[in-house]
Amino acid sequence: MQAGEVHTQPDLLDVDRVRADFPILQTRVNGKPLVYLDNAATTQKPAAVIEAIEQYYRSQNANIHRGVHHLSQVATEAYEQARRKVARFLNARSEREIVFVRGTTEAINLVASCFPRAGCQPGDEILITEMEHHSNIVPWQLACQQYGLRLRVLPMDDRGVLRIDLLDDYLTDRTRLMSVVHVSNSLGTVNPIKEIIARAHARGVAVLVDAAQSVAHFSVDVQTLDCDFLAFSGHKLYGPTGIGVLYGRENWLEKMPPYQGGGDMIRRVTFEETTYNALPYKFEAGTPNIAGAIGLGAALDYLESIGLARIARHEAALLQYATERLASISGLRIIGNAPAKAAVISFVLKDIHPHDVGTIVNHEGVAIRTGHHCTQPVMDHFGLAATSRASLAMYNCKEEIDQLVEALHTVIGMFQ
Ligand code: PMP
Repeated sequence: MQAGEVHTQPDLLDVDRVRADFPILQTRVNGKPLVYLDNAATTQKPAAVIEAIEQYYRSQNANIHRGVHHLSQVATEAYEQARRKVARFLNARSEREIVFVRGTTEAINLVASCFPRAGCQPGDEILITEMEHHSNIVPWQLACQQYGLRLRVLPMDDRGVLRIDLLDDYLTDRTRLMSVVHVSNSLGTVNPIKEIIARAHARGVAVLVDAAQSVAHFSVDVQTLDCDFLAFSGHKLYGPTGIGVLYGRENWLEKMPPYQGGGDMIRRVTFEETTYNALPYKFEAGTPNIAGAIGLGAALDYLESIGLARIARHEAALLQYATERLASISGLRIIGNAPAKAAVISFVLKDIHPHDVGTIVNHEGVAIRTGHHCTQPVMDHFGLAATSRASLAMYNCKEEIDQLVEALHTVIGMFQ
């Protein structure tokens, strides 16, 4: 049965039926049912994804693109079909705009290392924001060192909202690219990405969207956004680790030099000169993660069978419920109070160290993340070393939020 067929009420997500698709959710931790609220770090995988990967290795495995034999053709078709699914998922104009990479981190590194070589001059500027993940900071610092560029940082306010009122001051005549997170992994803020892109484009500035935390929660359409680049990781939208996507507008991908050299990215090699393969293969050197791409394709099929609109509604209601319940705990402070948020609640509990919070709730079967969430500048903004973070997925339910709240009361009890 297809997951989409089980829903009798078209608008409502049947959480019990969805949960049944995820074998790992049956796990018990310390004798308690697992409450998995670490979805911003990675999501769990539905049986359809696990089976697609297994089926690939059982019956389709071969290297792709270069083989004339049966299995190579089967594997090539499965891999390219996954690319077409991604193109459709993002509403890209063509699958030439879809480059398979290891994940968001590699996608951003690819752009940070190739974009500056496609027309930046020393002294040109790259604009990021104060709420970026380290993987959208460090690659640009490396690029700045290598190409003599200047990194500028658009600030945020104390609610965790970007200072869009300052954007025009930060977009200067030297700005070449803005790289900005769609949904903050440590604050949950949903940035007004379409407006940011329109304003950057008005100044001739290209925009990369870090969509690691958005694509699993609501629908993202690269043509509607009009972004130049967009990056996401398969493992954060119910797919496998080790596979991700860089969407790049074709004219940019054509202009940029290759990222890595090797097999598959070439048309003709001599010792004197090498010509490069067509898009997107120019950016896919070496044997890719074939099983990963196929698993990602299965994850997109699964996601679409449930429906992102339905997922977004379910998660928005759950986020509201969780926010109200957590906010009512005396001594708990939510970090990140933007009016538009998705799927993430960061908090501190009295002066209890977040690692103690995480360890104690784990005794109750509850998995949350504690630390800086690879966003140390965000922690610096709030004068904190770490927060506790609960992050939601389509399979979470109110009862699990109640279990988290109960576990937090246990924590408070232990520190009284
Ligand atoms: N950007 C954001 C906003 C993220 O949340 C993450 C993962 N936590 C990344 C980038 C990096 O993703 P990956 O580790 O899958 O490359």
